[in-house]
Amino acid sequence: MAVIIDGKAVADRVRSEVAMEVQQLKSRGITPGLAVIIVGDDPASRVYVDNKKKDCARVGIYSEEFALPADTDQEQLIALVTSLNNRSDINGILCQLPLPSHIDENAVISAISPAKDVDAFHPSNVGNIMIGKYSFLPCTPAGVMELIHSAGISVEGKRCVVIGRSNIVGKPMAMLLLHENGTVTICHSRTKDLKEICAEADILIAAVGRLKFVTADMVKPGAVVIDVGINRDENGKLCGDVDFYKVEKVAGYITPVPGGVGPMTRAMLLKNTLTAAKLQNALLME
Ligand code: NDP
Repeated sequence: MAVIIDGKAVADRVRSEVAMEVQQLKSRGITPGLAVIIVGDDPASRVYVDNKKKDCARVGIYSEEFALPADTDQEQLIALVTSLNNRSDINGILCQLPLPSHIDENAVISAISPAKDVDAFHPSNVGNIMIGKYSFLPCTPAGVMELIHSAGISVEGKRCVVIGRSNIVGKPMAMLLLHENGTVTICHSRTKDLKEICAEADILIAAVGRLKFVTADMVKPGAVVIDVGINRDENGKLCGDVDFYKVEKVAGYITPVPGGVGPMTRAMLLKNTLTAAKLQNALLME
């Protein structure tokens, strides 16, 4: 049976470390601040935004929500981002995705000052990740790396397979594994022999968005299986991409859903906001 990597426990640890550092900053008169922008009334986005605000409050980070109507035009949104770029009490800016279809997400992301881009989606931060010289990492891949480290697993020399090539999860995930000297393969919807490729992985990361996509026959005995996926089963229950109960019998380590990568994504946003505040107050070197 696989060892279950407890994302809630690791996220708790990250949060308390952040809370401690936030207190230290506050004693120097600095309160880290995060602006959270939401456009429209997508219920899932509303839950994410509320959670982010709650998380900030728990660790002493100031957060301010900007809720804009669904018909907000791109220029108005970019004007808001620009005004937040110029506010010294706001260290991090996050625009909840997806945005309504009439708004170009890339244009909005590019308008966020790279120094305040706590999601690390700005092209300049993406480029920094490629060259291995970064201040922020996107929250989900960074959270996955924390989980791997927390279990004492070394990536060096391991065969790593990432299923999914999105800009926010798959691609940066692959890059972080590569930085730690993993031998990395990225799989996607056009990959041939996907099952065979996955079955060779020492570390298998699933970021597909399909229920029970990773089955036990795709997992090498003893492999580390990290489940990024968020899906609902036929009963509305939250599930990942991995057929958990079957795969846990084969894998060496596995993350559950819920309670795996999700809490880490939330915790890493707090860490990025803290880092942004430290950088903007010249308390850290870039
Ligand atoms: P995307 O939909 O952007 O990407 C999904 C990827 O999976 C694509 O690269 C796609 O390939 C690939 N894919 C889809 N079907 C197949 C298939 N049959 N075989 C192989 N590859 C396939 O999703 P995201 O990267 O944004 O998110 C992935 C999952 O992670 C989702 O469930 C999302 O909800 C979840 N998520 C969880 C987070 C957390 O905190 N736990 C945070 C962010 C996301 P192609 O590129 O060829 O289309």
